Amino acid sequence: MAVLVTGAAGFIGSSLANDLLDRGFEVIGFDNLETGDRRTVAELEARDRFRFIEGDLRDIDAVRTAVDDVECVFHQAAIASVQRSIDDPVSVTTANCLGSTHLLTAARDAGVDRLVVASSAAVYGRNRSLPLDESMPVAPESPYALSKHWTEEMAIQASEFYDLDTVALRYFNVYGPGQDPAGEYAAVIPTFFERMAAGQQPTIYGDGEQTRDFVHVDDVVEANVCAMRSGCTGEVFNIAAGTSTSVNDLVRTLNDVLGTTIDPAYGPARSGDIRHSRADVTKAKEQLGFDATIGLQEGLRRMTDTRSTVSSVRVG
Ligand code: NAD
Repeated sequence: MAVLVTGAAGFIGSSLANDLLDRGFEVIGFDNLETGDRRTVAELEARDRFRFIEGDLRDIDAVRTAVDDVECVFHQAAIASVQRSIDDPVSVTTANCLGSTHLLTAARDAGVDRLVVASSAAVYGRNRSLPLDESMPVAPESPYALSKHWTEEMAIQASEFYDLDTVALRYFNVYGPGQDPAGEYAAVIPTFFERMAAGQQPTIYGDGEQTRDFVHVDDVVEANVCAMRSGCTGEVFNIAAGTSTSVNDLVRTLNDVLGTTIDPAYGPARSGDIRHSRADVTKAKEQLGFDATIGLQEGLRRMTDTRSTVSSVRVG
């Protein structure tokens, strides 16, 4: 069976493509390499049953070529940066909204059976009661969050109007090997991991008691496979560990895993940052049969095996 992974050169898409190859699928990877890594593609291309199409979601002809003869599409490609979406909303909305619409249309026309789209906890917005569950109204607070909600809604509508099953997965804070530690808006785990592994102090913005629901990329990959195999359609699911960890606790766990005793530095809190985050994961457990199994300590330990981490930006 052939499957398509958009964003296959990126952090989550490349892990998913590798896992699907391990499971025996024929995998087509699609990416415009905007933030994706050519070396990641080269590693995938060295494997049997993988084919790469360098193409842009904004080009519907390229998208039509990519969906030809595939049964399931995993849509990971996006410009996944809150800050970039504020600075340059046109490029983010064309890639994320128009690009997703091209993909849904092309998938419908090609007779694809199933489409799993990556959404984000960013759709919930700030100042919400926890845990966040899928029945809560969304409150996207950036063009990025809005583009993810748009993508979810388009996928749900496609399941109603067309003969296409769709599922949207709201990822919380994903971490793991291959994630970019560079840049002002890099995610907290790869940034802290790289600094502390090099014996440097991480800088916490605020008092460090802000919490996140960290989920390992291998669990996110498993969630995608569960979504492909499930009979669900037109539904959104939280994909998270269902636990909250403070940033201070993250530094303590990193010290433990790396065998270091580094105290963090503290800087001013960043305006706009979410204070607390934790998902209710009941729906994914009950309907997808997905339950995250990799705890933070184990997940960070796996990162020590793969020290050369690469790219991601501050995503919600
Ligand atoms: P990433 O930036 O590593 O990967 C995204 C990939 O999409 C890149 O390889 C990029 O080149 C490609 N891309 C961007 N625009 C494209 C276009 N117009 N055409 C073709 N390819 C294009 O990001 P990631 O962390 O792997 O995120 C994957 C998905 O998960 C995204 O949809 C993101 O919004 C979502 N998400 C990620 C997280 C997280 O914590 N990493 C959290 C919530 C949601």
